[in-house]
Amino acid sequence: MERTLILVKPDAVQRGLTGEIITRFERKGLKLVGARFLQISNDLAARHYAVHKSKPFYNDLIKYITSGPVMAMALEGKGAVAVCRKLMGATFGKDAEPGTIRGDFAMDKLNIVHGSDSIENAEYEISLYFKPDDLVEYELNNGRWIN
Ligand code: ATP
Ligand code: MG
Repeated sequence: MERTLILVKPDAVQRGLTGEIITRFERKGLKLVGARFLQISNDLAARHYAVHKSKPFYNDLIKYITSGPVMAMALEGKGAVAVCRKLMGATFGKDAEPGTIRGDFAMDKLNIVHGSDSIENAEYEISLYFKPDDLVEYELNNGRWIN
């Protein structure tokens, strides 16, 4: 089953939105298979955002993601990568549709949540935050009412 890496970013943790954001994914029907509350180091941030290394906003991005603790989660479900991106909304809060996480909670570039943008990147990002043993295989009791 497809998996994706979600981060509740430092602004959301500081604003007390961690639970609300987890709930958004849970109530959609995604299965939580891994969770870790951590402060991202400069080294981990550089590995996570390696694709943005040449961008003009790279330094701000590293500063932002390392500015406080994050909640990292691996979520599983049919089409999990695309489904989570839809739930998150457009990159910047001002552009995100109401009803999406960023549309409901963000105004600008501090955009509350990260989600992998492809299956390949999801596998890579999950491996940055979780050892294979940290991910839990189990059946959701209500899974047959979701899928
Ligand atoms: P994320 O990867 O965090 O889930 P995303 O995939 O919607 O967000 P990306 O294009 O991957 O957006 O950009 C990564 C992050 O870099 C964004 O979440 C945002 O915080 C920041 N960012 C992107 N574009 C800019 C920009 N032009 N100026 C400043 N920051 C930016
Ligand atoms: Mg991205």
